[in-house]
Amino acid sequence: MAVKFTHLPQATILGYPRIGRRRELKRAVEAFWAGRTTADELEATTRDLRLATARHLVDLGLDAGSAAVPGSFSYYDQVLDTVALLGAVPERFRDLASTGSTNGSALSLEGYFTLARGEGDKPPLEMTKWFDTNYHYLVPEIGPDTPIGFVDDRAVREFTELAQPADGGQAVVTRPVLVGPVTFLLLSKAADNAPDGFRPLDRLDDVVAAYAELLRALAAAGAPWVQLDEPALVTDLLDVSFDEVADAVRRAYARLATDLSAASVDGDAGGAERPAILVTAPYGDLRSEAGDGLALLAGTDVEAIAIDLVKGAVPEGPVPGLENKTLVAGVIDGHNIWRADLDARLTTLEGLAPLGAGAVTVGSSTSLLHVPHDVADEPRLDAGLKSWLAFADQKVREVVTLATGLADGRPAVAEQLAESTAAVRSRAEAPGVVVPSVRDRAAALTPADVERAPYAERAAAQQATLGLPPLPTTTIGSFPQTSEIRTTRAAWVRGELSDAEYTAAMRAEIASTVALQEELGLDVLVHGEPERNDMVQYFAEQLDGFATTVHGWVQSYGSRCVRPPILWGDVSRPAPLTVDWTAYAASLTDKPVKGMLTGPVTILAWSFVRDDLPLGDTADQVALALRDEVTDLEQAGIGVVQVDEPALRELLPLRRSAHADYLEWSVRSFRLSTAGAGTATQVHTHLCYSEFGQVIGAIDGLDADVTSVEAARSRMEIVPELADAGYGRGIGPGVYDIHSPRVPSVEEVTDLVSLAAKSIDPRLVWVNPDCGLKTRGYAETTESLRNLVTATREVRATL
Ligand code: GLN
Ligand code: ZN
Repeated sequence: MAVKFTHLPQATILGYPRIGRRRELKRAVEAFWAGRTTADELEATTRDLRLATARHLVDLGLDAGSAAVPGSFSYYDQVLDTVALLGAVPERFRDLASTGSTNGSALSLEGYFTLARGEGDKPPLEMTKWFDTNYHYLVPEIGPDTPIGFVDDRAVREFTELAQPADGGQAVVTRPVLVGPVTFLLLSKAADNAPDGFRPLDRLDDVVAAYAELLRALAAAGAPWVQLDEPALVTDLLDVSFDEVADAVRRAYARLATDLSAASVDGDAGGAERPAILVTAPYGDLRSEAGDGLALLAGTDVEAIAIDLVKGAVPEGPVPGLENKTLVAGVIDGHNIWRADLDARLTTLEGLAPLGAGAVTVGSSTSLLHVPHDVADEPRLDAGLKSWLAFADQKVREVVTLATGLADGRPAVAEQLAESTAAVRSRAEAPGVVVPSVRDRAAALTPADVERAPYAERAAAQQATLGLPPLPTTTIGSFPQTSEIRTTRAAWVRGELSDAEYTAAMRAEIASTVALQEELGLDVLVHGEPERNDMVQYFAEQLDGFATTVHGWVQSYGSRCVRPPILWGDVSRPAPLTVDWTAYAASLTDKPVKGMLTGPVTILAWSFVRDDLPLGDTADQVALALRDEVTDLEQAGIGVVQVDEPALRELLPLRRSAHADYLEWSVRSFRLSTAGAGTATQVHTHLCYSEFGQVIGAIDGLDADVTSVEAARSRMEIVPELADAGYGRGIGPGVYDIHSPRVPSVEEVTDLVSLAAKSIDPRLVWVNPDCGLKTRGYAETTESLRNLVTATREVRATL
């Protein structure tokens, strides 16, 4: 019997940046929030953006007529889109959904954004990291009574708008992209009022029923394909067993793929109840010790499966069930910015034959959401470096080239292969990529380089020099970045302010921050970080081995974008990074001033990292640069140094089997950056979260003298947890949440400090806010810190 399957075109990508080359989406959305435009205007502006984007992808070589172009637009976030699609609005926002039927009802654009941003005393949906990326999604809240239906046909409208464009121009048949039902529920949290034991996955049948209706509507609109993203299949971190996930996948796709009839193989969509289904599994390997996710998907009746061949291994075959499916081979990295070695990727593609797939389509490993738009848009980057890079547009062309090469043979793309090979070679040989002195220094490291004296000895020496009271008070580093500071920096960057003028302005800011802290009576002061645009970029701009971009914006969440630096070569420190500012602050006070550095893991996590050196080796290079900075700070008389590692948990691999290795190198690099400090120098670290889970042992392993963590929202829960895990050094559980302008009362802080001092040796407890204050205003900052100091004094009196 001839195997039948529906064809996807030979080249596709899983998604494309939606923010726009000049952040058009950001500007449009923020104008709407500010009340400067109406919902209709926002809709119209973004329609232009969607049309332009789809046509641009066709110009880059994706097929216009066969669902090669992903319909991956979102006003804010794809998970929030799913909440809107289903009308799955948390109770506190239910009045936003207009008719309030039991199936839920559609949100207006305004209502949609309200879920993301909160309103009055109604907090927004919580935000958290999307798999191992720096993209943040909104966490749906699902309870037994949450309305779930097919209430929002935006995906259908956006399909039609491009397939039958009103302007009469080029039509593009897109492939609507949605979060898959299983992943949606696995990323949701139980609603606050849900009974014990309820899990969002309990609502699978309702969600799948709504998706089935959506698929019918898409088929009726003529959509040949739909893409359902199921990255939940590549992670072990979701607190659910493989068997449960497998059961959910089988149930969901039996309903969606098997029970609904698809278009016939010759493309006749007549009578089809649904589009052909592509299920994607980006960010990792479908196969792990936990189970075989590839066999699982191959066993369903979906028409295509996309696998990540950048993070995941090439699976061994044959895979039963794959013979009547298209395998979308994700060989172009959607998560990093390096130009691919096309010859090697073509070899990988050719090596997929044993899997026995019905057809192979060349794809990106993930959505291109995580990379900027276009290398050609970077006038200031070095030409050599530019030739090694591929942003989203270059990646689309790479996918198209590989598809041609796979279909028509290497000679058909000989020129592109030769260019790619030349770029790979030039990168390997370029000065700065491998710096022998950096490599030699790293190679000569010994275990002694990550060891400090025993903690008891350090604590005594530090107390002798610092003479701190019990429950010492401090802050996490940054003080409010006022619009004045930002305007001054922008003027300096544009060249309108001389270096001397800029330095003077920042020094004045530091002086007033120090004066404020003295007046408040804090014990360990900071300089306030006014000179830092960003805690990673500031270091990247000064270290050798990094480059920074002009337009390399990547969506972080909603309208918020970041420009990750590019770590392209061996890292070293040509000159001190922070010493002048810190020493200046110290010269203004008799109190100890804490020097502030960003740790190696965080610098890596928030940069595009090189793919030609193991991460751990790169981390060691960054650590050595920081180690020299610590020495220079000490020499300048700074007795307290904080090395921030807010991203320590974020980089934790999705698969448990990779944790030990990650924790080994991440902890080692932190220790390498700090262990050069003398016994009397107090090393602090700061982590931005309180749910440590897998990394609790690592926090102890960092061997910092003081660790500050988020704790206010969880009422200091972390303190007994750390104590139970054997942590016995200084701990600064944040006593108030800096993410809101709310000022904590003295009683509130007293309460939390007492609570902390009860669950661990009070001599270890520090008092500080949850995180840096840069997003706050001075009014609430001053009042909050005043209450913090007052409360600390009250508790001290009871000790
Ligand atoms: N020192 C940094 C600050 O205070 C830490 C920021 C962070 O943890 N993300 O802003
Ligand atoms: Zn923080």
